[in-house]
Amino acid sequence: MLTRFAPSPTGYLHIGNIRTALICYLYAKSKGGQFMLRIDDTDTQRSEEKYVDAINQDLKWLGISPDRTERQSARFARYDAAIEKLKADGRLYPCYETQQELDMKRKFQMNQGLPPLYDRSALNLSDEQKSKYEAEGRTPHWRFKLDQDKVSTWEDEIRGTQKFEMRHMSDPILIRENGMYTYMLPSTVDDIELGVTHVLRGEDHVSNTAIQLQIFDALAGTRPIFAHNSLIKTKEGKLSKRVGSQSVGDIRDSGIEPMAVASFLAKIGTSDSVEIRESLEQLVAEFDISKFGRAPTIYETEDIERLNSKLLHVSSFDKVKEELAAIGLSQIDEEFWLAVRSNIGSLQDVKEWWQICKEVINPTIEDEEFMQEAAKLLPQGNWNEETWKNWTDAVKERTGRKGKELFMPLRKALTAQEHGPELKMILPLIGRERAIARLNGQAA
Ligand code: GLU
Repeated sequence: MLTRFAPSPTGYLHIGNIRTALICYLYAKSKGGQFMLRIDDTDTQRSEEKYVDAINQDLKWLGISPDRTERQSARFARYDAAIEKLKADGRLYPCYETQQELDMKRKFQMNQGLPPLYDRSALNLSDEQKSKYEAEGRTPHWRFKLDQDKVSTWEDEIRGTQKFEMRHMSDPILIRENGMYTYMLPSTVDDIELGVTHVLRGEDHVSNTAIQLQIFDALAGTRPIFAHNSLIKTKEGKLSKRVGSQSVGDIRDSGIEPMAVASFLAKIGTSDSVEIRESLEQLVAEFDISKFGRAPTIYETEDIERLNSKLLHVSSFDKVKEELAAIGLSQIDEEFWLAVRSNIGSLQDVKEWWQICKEVINPTIEDEEFMQEAAKLLPQGNWNEETWKNWTDAVKERTGRKGKELFMPLRKALTAQEHGPELKMILPLIGRERAIARLNGQAA
């Protein structure tokens, strides 16, 4: 079994792309198969090396290492050979319409209430007319001649039986007038020649599949099994700008853990509940393509953040040490980590707690007299997790305050926040000197 993830390196991967990558990977591994990264870089004008690097980096961050990598730009000879075959078999024909002419035809059809299908007028061009166009300096684009009497049908592993009447489809352009291949043919040639057995991709490719099946047949290639996953949407509808434009790099930089992303993306849109998993192996073991449904997959960034918090709350210092250093927090030690981990949504939040505990803040003082009293009662000696209880017991006895009345003003004075990690954990980190100053209303 071989699956492939086939991004075009014309931009950064976003959450939808990486979901497809993950599902391809998990599917292959769950069947003891292989996962291939195929860089779809036939569009030499729009493809950039920096995006190829980013794709590799994103996959690595998620823990996905491809068993194989191929680049379409190294395989043009293969596509040329396929083109020759299609030409010889009368399945490819040259067309000379300009984009403007095609747009006009389409508009005209729409105005008549007709579907905007290509009318195949190029099939009727005489050799003379073709030469005339060429003499005018027009270069042809090439269309694949669909068998429009047929119905393209396949058993989609997610969508069930699919049927497309090909008379409702336009002959697809395989080569543009600038000689560039469109996605259609190279993808099919590669799926055949590289031995791809399972094509898993987003449902925006469903109609491409109907067309590509005819290309598979025209090239006498073995049809792979297809599965089209539903697209990710937000609660408001389509992927919003904020969420949709969020690249994997952005998510990584916001301090979200790869396993929070992987756990989320492996489970949304399936019959399993979305829960945190600590390794890809666990996700592999639970993977089953039949758990995926057709309904749109609803996503909000907060969903991943929530999972991320859950993961961080149970993460050991060893697990996060390197990542903390990578985001400029190499000063964090185990004691500090254990004190704050249950109160953060992402590793970036550790920074805020570091500032609160170790740098200067302006305390929020509500009752000066009470604070001064409390400051006087701060214990001497080495502070540990017991210190908070010993101290607040003493404050309670002296002032008669208890519960929220007692704890909230102390929290605000010590951290300038209403919420945060347990004070018994962070009081020793703040230290006696700073605590006294803050209780006395000083910026410290
Ligand atoms: N390069 C295509 C894309 O990014 C690949 C689609 C496919 O998986 O076949 O949409």
